[in-house]
Order: sequence, then structure tokens, then C-alpha cells
Amino acid sequence: LIRFENVTKRFGEQTVLDGLDFSVDTGRHVTLIGPSGSGKTTILRLLMTLTKPDEGTITVGGQKLFPADEKQVREVRRNIGMVFQQFNLFPNMSVLRNLTEAPVTVLGLGKDEAEARARELLDLVGLADKCDAYPTQLSGGQQQRVAIARALAMRPQVLLLDEVTSALDPELVAGVLDLLRDIARTTDITMLCVTHEMNFARDISDQVLMFDSGQVIESGSPEKIFGEPEHERTREFLGAVL
Ligand code: ATP
Repeated sequence: LIRFENVTKRFGEQTVLDGLDFSVDTGRHVTLIGPSGSGKTTILRLLMTLTKPDEGTITVGGQKLFPADEKQVREVRRNIGMVFQQFNLFPNMSVLRNLTEAPVTVLGLGKDEAEARARELLDLVGLADKCDAYPTQLSGGQQQRVAIARALAMRPQVLLLDEVTSALDPELVAGVLDLLRDIARTTDITMLCVTHEMNFARDISDQVLMFDSGQVIESGSPEKIFGEPEHERTREFLGAVL
């Protein structure tokens, strides 16, 4: 479903992604792990077309994201939802409106249909009673659950999760992880997650990609990567974080 071919990304003198090749099959739950600053977030930003590669090709569902024309990019992007570390909810909109805004303006859904779907999703994330609240009236964990519901409201094929629990107080992390585990188990959505939480990687994913120096240096099931890592660099990294 997602394919990076020979993707290079530089910021000034610094080469962050260096001829990166990897792919994610439909329905897989993949986590990217690796040292801080190694370019994991940049991969998600490329998929969201928030930044462009210097070289290489990125395709989603067989459609090129780079290089591509505007119309094609919009179509591909419509199928990708992203949840950020800092939630990024619309602060001046109610929770319900946060969930209906894009379905109405981008997908052209009628207001009633969008609201019905939004209420279902808020129910799913355990916040049915917060429809009329504003983001600042919610805890971090609640805001993140709204952000997850908002991403799902667009019915994306792919959900990108960028360190979604790292801004949360420790006691709020478990609720968000449980929710994501449920979504992984009960939907056929393809997930690509960047995380520093190895338990999260172990629980949610069926494939782990170890990333270093701009390339995927090792990939495999969580059992393999955490249990019998082959690469010296993976062993060092896991030794330091586990
Ligand atoms: P972390 O785990 O700490 O979030 P990461 O693996 O997600 O790190 P990225 O955020 O992708 O890493 O950043 C990779 C490198 O690219 C970093 O050294 C960062 O400073 C640099 N970088 C990222 N975005 C920009 C930018 N817009 N301008 C210049 N440098 C950038």
C-alpha cells in the first residue's frame, strides 16, 4: 500500500533520509523505532505531503505522491489520517465540530450524516458526553482520543501516528494505547506508527522497522526484533531504551 523507493531527504547539509526503501502492505500495523533525530517523523511528514523528498518516489495505493500533480496529491492525502504528538485540535471548535469539519468541507458529507458519524466515533473513543466541550476543557488523554476520532472520521485507509502518547501524563497513556489496540484489532486500517514506547510497538504492531542513519536497517515481527535482533545497532538501541 505504501512504498518508499530510494527516498532521500536533506535539510541543508544534513541528509536525514538516505536512499530509503521500505513498504507497508495493506492492513498491516507497522511501527518505526530508532534513535531520536533519525528521521522517523520526517517519513510521516512526507506521507502527509507536509514536506517533499529531494530524490526518490513515494507511492500510496499505487498512486504516486512524489512526483505528482496537485490533484493526485489531494486524492492520495484524503486516504491518509494523521494523529500528532500535540493533538492539534481546532481550539475554537467544539469537539463535535472538530470531527465534522473535514468530512463536510473535504468529503462533501451532509451535516446530519457527518454528525451521526461523529457521535458514533465519540462513543467509540468513550467521549460521547463531550460533544459540546471545547478542546481546552479536556484532559490531554481526552484530547488525544478526540484527535484519533477526528482522523477516523475521514475514513482513511491509512492512519499515521506520531508519538501519540509522548505528550501525555503517564496515567493517561494506557487509555489511549487501549483505544489504539482496539482500533488495530477491529478495523482493517493500515497503521504506521512512530513511537518511543517499546511496549506500544510490541503490542500494536505486526511489523517493526528499525531505523538508523536514514535507512531501515532491520525489520521483522515484534518477537524477532525485541527477542532476537540481528543487527548490532538494533541491540544497542534496545539495550539503551528497554
Ligand atoms: P524524534 O524521535 O526525536 O522525534 P525523529 O527520528 O522523528 O526524531 P525527525 O523529526 O524526522 O527525527 O528529524 C530528523 C532530523 O531532521 C533531525 O536532526 C532534525 O533536526 C532534522 N529536521 C527535521 N525537520 C527539519 C526542518 N524542517 N528543518 C531543518 N531540519 C529539520
